[in-house]
Amino acid sequence: MWLEFFRFDLRYQLRQPLLWLSSMIFALMAFGAASSDAVVVGGAVGNVYRNAPMVIVQFLGVFTVIAMFIVTIFMAGSVLRDTELGIADMIFATPMKKRDYLFGRFAAGLVACLSIFVLVALGIMLGTVMPWVDVARIGPFSITPYLWGFAVFVIPNLLLIGAFLVLLAATTRSMLLVYVGVIVFFVLWSVAGVFSRDISNEWLVVLMDPFGLRAFGRITRYFSTAEANSALPAFSGFILANRALWSAVALALLGLTLVLFKPQRPDSGKRRWGRKTTLASALPAAPAQRSYRPRQPQIDSATAWRQCWTMLRFDAIGVFRSVPFLVMLLVGVANFIGGASMGGQMYGTQIYPVTRMMLETLSGSFSFMLVLIVTFYAGELIFKERQFKVAEVTDALPVPNWVPLVAKSLALLGVIAGFMAGGVLAAMCFQLVKGGVPLQPLLYLQGSLQGSAFFVLMGLLALALQVLCNNKFVGYLAVILLLAWQVVFGVLHFDHTLYNIAGLPRVAYSDMNGFGHFLTGWYWYLLYWGLFVLSLLLLAHGFWVRGLSQEWRVRGRLARQRLRGLAGGALAVSLCGFAATGGWIFYNTNILNEYLAGDEQMDRQASFEKQYRQYKGLPQPRVTEVRANVDIFPAERRLVIDGHYRLVNKHSAAVDTLYVNVVPRTKTVLRSLPAHQVTLDDAVLGFRILKLSQALQPGAAIDMDFSVTVENQGFTNDGKPDSLNLNGSFFNNMQVFPALGYAGNELLDRNERRKRGLGEPKRMPKLEDEAARANHQLDSEADWISFETTVSTSADQIALAPGYLQKTWEKDGRRYFHYKMDRPMLPFFAYLSARWQVRKGDWNGLPIEIYFDPQHSYNVDRMITATRKSLDYFSANFTPYQHQQVRILEFPRYASFAQSFANTIPYSEAIGFIADLRKAEDVDYVFYVTAHEMAHQWWAHQVIGANVQGATMLVESLAQYSALMVMEKEYGREHMRRFFARAVANRLKSYRCFGSRTSPISITTRALWCSTACVRRWVRRH
Ligand SMILES: [Zn+2]
Repeated sequence: MWLEFFRFDLRYQLRQPLLWLSSMIFALMAFGAASSDAVVVGGAVGNVYRNAPMVIVQFLGVFTVIAMFIVTIFMAGSVLRDTELGIADMIFATPMKKRDYLFGRFAAGLVACLSIFVLVALGIMLGTVMPWVDVARIGPFSITPYLWGFAVFVIPNLLLIGAFLVLLAATTRSMLLVYVGVIVFFVLWSVAGVFSRDISNEWLVVLMDPFGLRAFGRITRYFSTAEANSALPAFSGFILANRALWSAVALALLGLTLVLFKPQRPDSGKRRWGRKTTLASALPAAPAQRSYRPRQPQIDSATAWRQCWTMLRFDAIGVFRSVPFLVMLLVGVANFIGGASMGGQMYGTQIYPVTRMMLETLSGSFSFMLVLIVTFYAGELIFKERQFKVAEVTDALPVPNWVPLVAKSLALLGVIAGFMAGGVLAAMCFQLVKGGVPLQPLLYLQGSLQGSAFFVLMGLLALALQVLCNNKFVGYLAVILLLAWQVVFGVLHFDHTLYNIAGLPRVAYSDMNGFGHFLTGWYWYLLYWGLFVLSLLLLAHGFWVRGLSQEWRVRGRLARQRLRGLAGGALAVSLCGFAATGGWIFYNTNILNEYLAGDEQMDRQASFEKQYRQYKGLPQPRVTEVRANVDIFPAERRLVIDGHYRLVNKHSAAVDTLYVNVVPRTKTVLRSLPAHQVTLDDAVLGFRILKLSQALQPGAAIDMDFSVTVENQGFTNDGKPDSLNLNGSFFNNMQVFPALGYAGNELLDRNERRKRGLGEPKRMPKLEDEAARANHQLDSEADWISFETTVSTSADQIALAPGYLQKTWEKDGRRYFHYKMDRPMLPFFAYLSARWQVRKGDWNGLPIEIYFDPQHSYNVDRMITATRKSLDYFSANFTPYQHQQVRILEFPRYASFAQSFANTIPYSEAIGFIADLRKAEDVDYVFYVTAHEMAHQWWAHQVIGANVQGATMLVESLAQYSALMVMEKEYGREHMRRFFARAVANRLKSYRCFGSRTSPISITTRALWCSTACVRRWVRRH
């Protein structure tokens, strides 16, 4: 008997267009992931093959999670279909066994869903043999990993999800509640993942994951590249235990379904949700005796709006009261609290729950639920009347055509607002409980309006699509395709927001810089996509289905009629507006500014290396003296430098050619050079070759004056932060000053290099390399320099650079600061300008100054103490401190590092300044980072290695060691133990990315790799 159910149902399922559509989408995704670097699933990074067994298995495993939402439609649908079609009573009246019925249907759903995964596997196989795929990234083909993946992940996971869904469907008899169940399950799974990071019992963590992915992750975590490429983990231990446990759970759920499933009318049983109403109480007690007087309905211009308001209220309240909404809200809040209590942690120490962090956490772990909510309720709202079979009645009411669509759009906006308000409330409560920060309601308002803009656009788009498609499932699919478009375009480096539907540039809020200059571009994009959505809504208005006519021919005729008047005019205007705004945006992003897709930037780096690496190491005169007048205009984000280099030929041979690197898209003018000829001027890559008429003899010197103008006009596509800000500018000489020699920023990723025919990344020169030993590690254009500079900025800001303040004055509403260094220093200096508060301390009379944002005074004294202790320790154990002052300067959080320049240490707003160290047992990383940067005044600024392998040991490892010594002295062994536990855990995680050349032998080799990587990063930064 069950076979009959199975056969019938499978035939039905396989004929469903949705099954094939979604299979195709998933297969396409798999194909994309396997054939391009754009989509990365399953850790195929570095030298791990794209089709490494581990990657394939992980991919299939991850897909079982992603596919959960779509699987729901088929699994739960198979049980609920009869109820929804209203034929359940008939079927249950036949003499069939409920076991056969359930089992047949379940098996059919399972097989249908398996076909999705078969297509996914085919997509991967096909993807890896595409001609454009780098053959070096592909290993030999083998069917085993696919079979392994199906046996260990796909089938057991589908069984589990399916059993869970069928149980839900059979007991609730509602698709809505099944979806809620799925979402709750999904969120609980992710939340458990977050919390399991803090659980030390590995068995518990591994067994807690119903999908088995964490077990797989634990086992393969320390696989070397070679192992990942060739082997699969044994089916034992963690994986076996996990799979056995959850398969047993799946069987138990199926058994439970069999017990609980009642093949009878849902209404004849008890109500599971809501209050029980008895027939008696539902009836009015005693109908009043009143004579019937027909009333003439009053319809005027305000009626439509009153109707609209009534519908809007009815629809919005309906959503607010609906179980899925409440569940998603609760789940979102739970997820937010999880995210907020982990957010911004370093070494396990939390940060103060400042409002900008709350807003960020809201957008990361709360409001993403809105994608689901708007997609889901757009369909629900549009088809509400038809689903409850009252559409014919409501459509017959004297309501203008536009009213329902407007009401439903506004209701959806209300839903978004309500959801966001819930999140903000939760965030404020979180802040109150944690304490230590002021409430900033206005910032919340601004931030949440901004955070919901994307969802508003998406929601209205979904509404319009639902109306146009006129079928709920096709509508849902259209929205899914839209989301896929956004993802796929982004990863394929088609990242211009002009064609990334509903895309808005990032806006990073910084306490120091606020929303900065980023809002302008954001608003224009909002207007652009807003007009697009409005046009679609007007079109939807034209195609709105009223009554029974659903044929496209009829709808088209109606649309032409409806769009003739005011609506048509509005459509034309909004389309024109859309085009005009697009033009204006294009003018700003691609003409006033340069737009480079992600991979084009790398192409440029590659061509710089290809064309100019030949000049590397050629003798160049060295800079011995730098003087510069630097004018920073924060409000216009403009920078004018008037600089001077003294160049000395320190080589034994004459130099007749200068190779000058300038920053592309800045105006750099070189002056006062002796007679010369410009033989090459590459404005795009920023490289010039100057042939001197008279060669520069050994020991001789020349002057080079230059002016650099940096201007920022309009807005850019990505809204990426840069170094000139309204409040909090920070840049160093390598970013704007001209440089001599070959100063290429070479690509480091070996796959990106191979793609561009560049070969292996160049490593640092060997110890024996005499030529390399003639240079220090930072660069080759200078050794020590003498440094003097005058910086000006707006009247309300302070401007800073290395050296000591000689003089400060005001002129023409601007402030000037003259700094001079009293001894030779590294050719590496920074400029900063901001509105700071200054706190002063001292160490044996030597001034210590912290320049910080007035909102971030939490750890300023701690920084002064750390500086003092560092000076104590280093000057006692190493050499005296070479400067007469220490300055620590806060800069906006667009980057999160601290960096040591001569007597000047810029320190990001994101680290340290807002660390919450109210609990004594927390690791004091503010102390650590400060001591580390102070140590660089010795390691790097006093002792620096030649430009050969191992040089970074002298800089980074010794700075680290020194900082640890100061910290141990201050805090004792126990604190250090905690510090190391956190530090090691953080590092091992990212191990395989750079450890591609070795297989792990022991912790120490790994640690070595980690520190070299850290050092490499440091070098790049400098
Ligand atoms: Zn360092």
